[in-house]
Amino acid sequence: MAPLNDWRHRRILRARTRAAELAAAYSHLDAADLLAAMIGEEFPGDIAIASSFGAEAVALLALAADIDRNLPVIFLDTGKLFPETVAYRDTVAQHLGLTNVRIARPDILELAATDTAGDLWSHQSDACCFVRKVVPLVQAVTPYSAWITGRKRYQGGGRDALAPIEASDGWVKVNPLAAWTKQDVFGFIARRGLPKHPLLAQGYLSIGCAPCTRPVAPLEEERDGRWAGSGKVG
Ligand code: SF4
Repeated sequence: MAPLNDWRHRRILRARTRAAELAAAYSHLDAADLLAAMIGEEFPGDIAIASSFGAEAVALLALAADIDRNLPVIFLDTGKLFPETVAYRDTVAQHLGLTNVRIARPDILELAATDTAGDLWSHQSDACCFVRKVVPLVQAVTPYSAWITGRKRYQGGGRDALAPIEASDGWVKVNPLAAWTKQDVFGFIARRGLPKHPLLAQGYLSIGCAPCTRPVAPLEEERDGRWAGSGKVG
């Protein structure tokens, strides 16, 4: 095996072992206690949050800010976001006192080579997501052993059995809100008086890149508004 592959393979195995141990010890905890254990005890200085600053993101960010306002928060700016999301990022950061929001962007040269016209999303969405999301996110989380997501089981898109702690490639991935319902999320946001994403009022329930997101009709699932009609899930 080549050295790089060997290193990556070892990292993957380590993450699997660690995730299994952590899941056995901590999966019973509620979201706040799980976050406190991961941030303060298991991965001090070695964990980050990845946040889209979408419709529900403020709930997880508020829980994290209760523990450590200087926790690294990785915001992936794909270059295709709604301007409302970028403005909301700053509103939320100010409201919660977040002091370590880091912006991850796709590589300019990569974009010039693969998405010259900026319309790759319209004919090769997987390739577009790879260059604009996957690569910069992997680069952003590489310094850490673990990262935290806001994913929940009720969101669908293959998340029905989402565990609070899992291994993903070479990382321990922590999903503190895995078992939360939509009512839990928006009840928490209302109780805490947290700022709401401005596009919520226009019917957007799951907010990603502008070209791939549309408002959701009353009887649709929230992620039906993402990559609508393409068969793609995420
Ligand atoms: S969600 Fe759409 S615009 Fe954003 S990276 Fe994926 S395909 Fe491209």
